[in-house]
Amino acid sequence: MDRTGQHDFVTRLAAVAGGTAPVEDASGPLGSFVDPVVVGTVVAIADGSVTMSSGRTITADAVVVTAGSAPSRPPVDGIELAHVLRSAEDAAALRGPIASASSMVVIGGGATGIQLAGAAAVAHPSLTIHLVEAAPRLLAGMPGAFSSGATRILESRNVRIHMSSSVERITERGALVDSSLLEGLVVWAGGFSALAQRYGVPTAEDGRILVDEALRVQGSQRTFAAGDIAAHRDRNDHPLPMSAQIAVRAGSAAGRNAACAALGEPTEVVDLRQIGWVLDLGGRRGLAQVGPINLTAPGADLIPPILHDAIDLKDLLDVGGVHALRYASSSVRSLLTWPFAVWPRPSAPPAMIDHGS
Ligand SMILES: Cc1cc2nc3c(=O)[nH]c(=O)nc-3n(C[C@H](O)[C@H](O)[C@H](O)COP(=O)(O)OP(=O)(O)OC[C@H]3O[C@@H](n4cnc5c(N)ncnc54)[C@H](O)[C@@H]3O)c2cc1C
Repeated sequence: MDRTGQHDFVTRLAAVAGGTAPVEDASGPLGSFVDPVVVGTVVAIADGSVTMSSGRTITADAVVVTAGSAPSRPPVDGIELAHVLRSAEDAAALRGPIASASSMVVIGGGATGIQLAGAAAVAHPSLTIHLVEAAPRLLAGMPGAFSSGATRILESRNVRIHMSSSVERITERGALVDSSLLEGLVVWAGGFSALAQRYGVPTAEDGRILVDEALRVQGSQRTFAAGDIAAHRDRNDHPLPMSAQIAVRAGSAAGRNAACAALGEPTEVVDLRQIGWVLDLGGRRGLAQVGPINLTAPGADLIPPILHDAIDLKDLLDVGGVHALRYASSSVRSLLTWPFAVWPRPSAPPAMIDHGS
């Protein structure tokens, strides 16, 4: 079940919004990967059933909640004027304004903010880009080498980085930062939250669903949760970040455990950990750490974009098999022009729209 019927390729959105990748890279019909798909919005979750906004309740032997996260909206004056980047729709809505702007203010120096600033600087070299970060370094949640690598790559593209700076107000003209107005199109990339309380399930303080070691929703028998919406923890009980890597692995494990629960078989303990990061900053430069291997130094930063594409291909294969490779990113498709030209994207089976009947 999905509210849009589209599968967003979230890790490609910064490139689409920034202008280094075409709009078609942002999403594909969900029906090409799984069938059948019900298009509708879930508004409440009980143990073994979900209620849709149409009023219809659907019961099942097991339920897995993977409804993701949304941009957080802290109480900053004028925040509703800022663009956000979380969905294919957001990326398409942002792409045109960035292409026609003369300056842009990106608020948030995490993975989303730096990938967007990096791609936009490559696609639009005359665009003045301000990147504003409240912490004393970029990518504060990642190893220190990521901060220096991101700063080096972005400054080489003339991105103006404002560290330890806070946004006081957002207006039609720009953002007021440390009492100075930075003029331009404002993009809020200051983080994401899950706000799962709205579904009536038990949540942690940050709004993510509390799950046990089998990813079962606390207090449930047949309902599981995975990805950004679940409060995943590692084996040392440390909270894990919202990342595609965790979401993909937790999603598979929750699916397996849901199947076991439906069949009355024992579920497995799920051991999750973040084994590294791979960020693509556009212009064939990126940053990565995979286990002990650090790829953030000049020269080594050519490898992460290739890794980014390789992970993308592996995920497509895992989710939809060889047919899903037709949804590879345009950069991969252009490397393999001939096979993809004779193997066009198929039309997806029609989705079932939930009208409540
Ligand atoms: C710009 C950007 C770049 C990123 N880059 C990276 C990266 O390089 N590496 C990395 O590891 N992570 C990255 N992330 C984070 C990563 O994309 C997320 O952690 C991941 O998408 C989470 O997957 P998910 O399946 O939990 O949620 P999502 O991918 O958000 O999927 C949730 C789905 O549920 C649907 N849905 C939501 N609510 C409802 C409802 N009520 N009813 C029905 N359907 C609903 C949505 O439409 C959506 O299709 C990035 C995120 C962004 C925004």
